[in-house]
Amino acid sequence: AKACGRNTFSYYTAQMNQCAQRRLAIEEQIHGALNRQEFSICYQAKTDLTSGEIMGAEALLRWHNPVLGNVPPDEFISVAEQTGNIIQLGQFVLKQALSQTARWHKQFNADFQIAINLSPRQFRDPMLVNFIEDSLKATGVAADKLELEITEGVLLSGHNYVEAMLTNITNLGVQLAMDDFGTGYSSLSYLRSYPFDVLKIDRSFINEITNSDKDKALINAVVSMSHALNLRVVAEGIETDEQCNYLRKLGCDYGQGYLFSKPITADAMSSLLEQSMQL
Ligand code: C2E
Ligand code: CA
Ligand code: CA
Ligand code: CA
Repeated sequence: AKACGRNTFSYYTAQMNQCAQRRLAIEEQIHGALNRQEFSICYQAKTDLTSGEIMGAEALLRWHNPVLGNVPPDEFISVAEQTGNIIQLGQFVLKQALSQTARWHKQFNADFQIAINLSPRQFRDPMLVNFIEDSLKATGVAADKLELEITEGVLLSGHNYVEAMLTNITNLGVQLAMDDFGTGYSSLSYLRSYPFDVLKIDRSFINEITNSDKDKALINAVVSMSHALNLRVVAEGIETDEQCNYLRKLGCDYGQGYLFSKPITADAMSSLLEQSMQL
């Protein structure tokens, strides 16, 4: 199944056939899956590297299907994009994550930030901005506590409506993050043209940070550039203390990764927040 992901080339017809079948099965099963309550949301902590405190979390969609088992988002999001299911899935994530965040605000810390991923097709939904606004009102979460993570893929479509949509969204007071920074082709020009607040350095750069002088130099430059542009920086995929210490010394603002926590259920996240309050 792994070989069916994007960025994978295969010269074997047998394997291509397998991938096509897998895709087809996903397409078949995703239909109605939301109504059958097969989706849930996990949360991965974002840690302030200076204070060591959890300052927020990223919401990550999980799918358990009786036929296919656990299907990773890297597999089903692209299918949901094509079928259009992503619109309803995205609304589910936004509503659920915001109501959960409202509970965490009351219980723990009203500054807690919730980050949600938005993919290209969601920007073709004319109701997106209204839906975000209504969900914020319904849950009582302040707009600046919601952060939307978008990748270059969203901006790449180059349509005018994307730009209008982003302006309307940021006008609500919602924060905008550039996800997977460093993996695209024109991230710099997008940083110039769109109102980003946060930059997330892709985990492929963090992986080798303690071994590779090139990656060190790149991360150094990205952190200083971000601060010069008044962007906060999140490092993704921190797995070791060395990586964490290096990034902290550099002045990277926030960190996310298995070192702090894997994506976990809302209940597990509540326990984690409780523990970190007692420190
Ligand atoms: P992403 O937005 O870049 O999310 C980060 C991914 O990195 C997550 O994978 C997370 O589990 C993983 N990760 C975090 N820390 C570490 C680490 O220390 N080491 C390693 N090896 N991995 C780490 P996940 O949950 O499988 O999600 C994959 C992608 O699926 C996401 O990448 C995002 O693009 C997409 N996705 C997930 N949930 C949603 C959603 O609700 N809506 C949309 N549109 N896309 C989503
Ligand atoms: Ca993300
Ligand atoms: Ca990312
Ligand atoms: Ca990614």
